[in-house]
Amino acid sequence: MKAALLVRPGEIVVDAIPEPTIGPDDVSIAVGGVGLCGSDLSVFSGKWTAPAYPWVMGHEAFGTIDAVGAGVPRERIGQTVVVEPNVACFTCDQCRRGWTSACVARRSVGMNRQGALAERLVLPSRFAWPINGAAPTDLVCVEPTAVVLAALRRLGTPLPESAMVIGVGAQGLLMSLALVDRGVTVHAHDVNQDRVASAVGLGAVVAAVDESSPTFHLVVDTVGSPASVAVALSRLEVGGTLLVLGLDGRPLDLTAQAVVRRQLVLRGSLTYDHPDDFEAAIAAVRDGSFAPGRIVTDAYALDDAQLAFERSGSTAGKTWIRVGSDGETS
Ligand SMILES: [Zn+2]
Ligand SMILES: [Zn+2]
Repeated sequence: MKAALLVRPGEIVVDAIPEPTIGPDDVSIAVGGVGLCGSDLSVFSGKWTAPAYPWVMGHEAFGTIDAVGAGVPRERIGQTVVVEPNVACFTCDQCRRGWTSACVARRSVGMNRQGALAERLVLPSRFAWPINGAAPTDLVCVEPTAVVLAALRRLGTPLPESAMVIGVGAQGLLMSLALVDRGVTVHAHDVNQDRVASAVGLGAVVAAVDESSPTFHLVVDTVGSPASVAVALSRLEVGGTLLVLGLDGRPLDLTAQAVVRRQLVLRGSLTYDHPDDFEAAIAAVRDGSFAPGRIVTDAYALDDAQLAFERSGSTAGKTWIRVGSDGETS
């Protein structure tokens, strides 16, 4: 089957790879399309090292089930499904506590198991969520929508009237859209002004970040860099919450004194916990109450995967790659 292969950091070759084998509890998915996000770009650039080269990337995928293992009902063949790409073990302490996002044996599509930028992807059946009637652009956004819904669930408090979102790449745009939908006035900030313009197009306003600008009870930082967290901290009011989604490994310039004196809440949120968060994302897209495809701006063919990755880091919205001939699946 055809796949986009990362042969070394920064270089993709489209070539044939062996068909995956289907285990008894697995489904085989003819991939329709795959969304790209910051995690994929980290693997592409080599910032995160791929487990091996060549490597198949991609995890925000949808497609059609074309074969099932012996233990899976045959009625599932033909279903349009969205991939929940983080396969938890369900036996470790974190999984038993319901925190599958922190599973110590997590196997993630495109990270440490075969990615979705291939004609076929094999996955345990419970991680392939049926959905009908949604546009491909909505389908490639279900996974990052689950990230947003999990983060808002973990906040555990009523949303304030206004909030700031720092970093409005794909994840920040979806967070902005979800907050706007919930009646929150979103103040968007990004070093890329095209992305701020996209956020404004979704109903946000441009954030002011000078000394005298307003402070917020909630600041969401999808970047997590020392610079972005510094901006976030400067815009939090006393008692406010900093919700961090960005995975940056560098130390932050933050003292306990600042946290204590300003009585801040720091909340990190990683992906989502199986199955509730993904189920919520599927339901919101299926019933039309959330239309995440509005953040999608760029589409490419699988053969142009190299170009898609090179450009996706700087475009105004989300990029996706059409894989199957039925990228227009319904
Ligand atoms: Zn992603
Ligand atoms: Zn586990």
